[in-house]
Amino acid sequence: MVEGPTFPNLFSPLLIGAVTLKNRIFSSGHDTVMDENGLMTDRLIAYHEARAAGGMGLIVVQVAGVHESGRYTSHVLMATGDECIPGYRTLAETVHGHGCAIFGQLFHPGREIMESQDGTAPVAYAPSSVPTERFHVMPREMPREMLREIADGYGGAARRLQQAGLDGIELVASHGYLPAQFLNPRVNLRDDAYGSSDENRLRFLREVIDAARKETGRDFVVGLRISADELTHENGLTKDEVLATCVALDADGTLDYVSVVAGTSATLAGSTHIVPPMTRAAAYTAPMAAELKENVSIPVMVAGRINQPHEAEAIIAGGQADACAMTRALICDPLLPEKAGSGRAEEIRACIGCNQACIGHFHAGYPISCIQRPETGREQAYGALPPAPQARTVMVAGGGPGGLKAAVVAAQRGHRVTLYEAGRRVGGQVLLAEQLPGRAEFGGVITNLVGEAERAGVTVVTRTRVDRALVDAEHPDVVIVATGATPYRPPLELMGEPMPVLDAWQVIGGEAVPRGHVVVADWRCDWIGIGLAQLLAEKGNTVTLAVDGYMPGQRLQMYVRHDNIAALHRAHVTVIPTTRVFGADADTVYLEHVLSREPVMVEDVAALDLAQGHTSSDGLLAELEDYGGEVHAIGDCLAPRTVEEAVLEGLVVGARI
Ligand code: SF4
Repeated sequence: MVEGPTFPNLFSPLLIGAVTLKNRIFSSGHDTVMDENGLMTDRLIAYHEARAAGGMGLIVVQVAGVHESGRYTSHVLMATGDECIPGYRTLAETVHGHGCAIFGQLFHPGREIMESQDGTAPVAYAPSSVPTERFHVMPREMPREMLREIADGYGGAARRLQQAGLDGIELVASHGYLPAQFLNPRVNLRDDAYGSSDENRLRFLREVIDAARKETGRDFVVGLRISADELTHENGLTKDEVLATCVALDADGTLDYVSVVAGTSATLAGSTHIVPPMTRAAAYTAPMAAELKENVSIPVMVAGRINQPHEAEAIIAGGQADACAMTRALICDPLLPEKAGSGRAEEIRACIGCNQACIGHFHAGYPISCIQRPETGREQAYGALPPAPQARTVMVAGGGPGGLKAAVVAAQRGHRVTLYEAGRRVGGQVLLAEQLPGRAEFGGVITNLVGEAERAGVTVVTRTRVDRALVDAEHPDVVIVATGATPYRPPLELMGEPMPVLDAWQVIGGEAVPRGHVVVADWRCDWIGIGLAQLLAEKGNTVTLAVDGYMPGQRLQMYVRHDNIAALHRAHVTVIPTTRVFGADADTVYLEHVLSREPVMVEDVAALDLAQGHTSSDGLLAELEDYGGEVHAIGDCLAPRTVEEAVLEGLVVGARI
């Protein structure tokens, strides 16, 4: 137990405009896919209430469109009409009930249109007709009349949020969205009063701020979110341009704070910084915020992989920023502020930057959640679980993430739980995942769950494989089978004296060490094949990665995939897309192009490494078919998938028994 005052800077109040935040931890604006027809829902309110109840100082609610041309996804909140007010009002009252302040983001994407409303591409409007790399959009130059309408739209939306009882608004000029497009001389090619000079390029943003101020007055907080550097190879706003913008706006005296991020939506490389994956250093944006803070008088907030309270404390103590967004950290553990503030920081379920269920769900069009905390986004069903009506004995077979989660939830509800793991350590496939390049942090899933299991009173027994005899001997009321999976090997034509054919697990675990030219045959297109190729290349091998998909890492969240694909390219890994493996001989791997059906041969190969997915280890399930007690199966032993599904199924069964 940590003694004495913990994180004194993080837990000091902060005055922003006329609003005092009780501490320096906040949740930055992030899309949740929990709206309905562009309006607030009970589900979204429950999501934010869970976080406000955890003790943070401020919630910045996700973007709301200010004009019909600003619908950048099919599920964006809109603040264009008074019908948005009641939902925002309930949200504000709920959040305020926990002593947490609330601002709302106002937004127009300009050319950054992610998806259509109905399957047809909308006309995107931007300062000029300059295309965007990532979404392949060629926008139309925004007419002057529309520009005025949009600036007024910000004003009307700000008024509505103020009427709803929010404490402020945040104008989103980050990540290459519309205000940033106006600021950027390589994107704004206008020769009218809104382009061709720094002063003119700033005009639109100034008009937006003025419109918001005019509608809301001086006591309502008006802040700005901006990328301190768009960190992209071309056409992005530079550090100096952003600094000059912030200094000019600070001198105007119209803004109450600036919230710093990095990157841009406009390019693949720049977009990685929108939600930086675990390959990026913790708090890497803090020095950017610090430079800005040295040059402006208003409070500066910062976001960017700040996952732990000690990181946030160091940023604030070091004067780099005044408040820290810990958005994913709070998605993963809403109780982070309460735990950090009460000397229980070691109990925080640390976010690992996997991006799978938060931004990953958003990009796939589903409500956000967390692979480690599936209760997130499902607060109405699983937010507060009642104690079990009767304490029962529960045996969990398998110490992977699914088994651990089931054990934790069942024990928290009052059951007597024993978890058996066949191996030396609990962790399942996570113990392999954490050994791949750039994925060490993935092991945090198990560190977190082991701590939770200890605190919940789960008895953990390792080096013990559960079989029918053990179940009969222990005779638990409930058996949860979470025995995982083993590598799947498809039928292969192996000719002559074939080269070594290895499974991914053998290589990652160090059981086999191929040397020379290795072909990785990747069917799952997830972290295993792409990581294995990287690992083998790092060990000095020549690597060919044959993927049964359009690209390596196709099923990974795109910002995660970006860094992996860059690493493959730097390591000179040859990628052959849309191929499946069907055989090998002594030195040739035989592939088939899955679309043309033509053979593809890779010659002079020393070893074939298979990343062909898994097959369920469900033998225990069959053994327990006639067991008298209750039996449940979860995770890969039901069907091989990912940590996310295993942990969710652990929660569901733990909540049900
Ligand atoms: Fe963090 Fe991964 Fe959970 Fe997202 S899904 S909040 S990145 S642990």
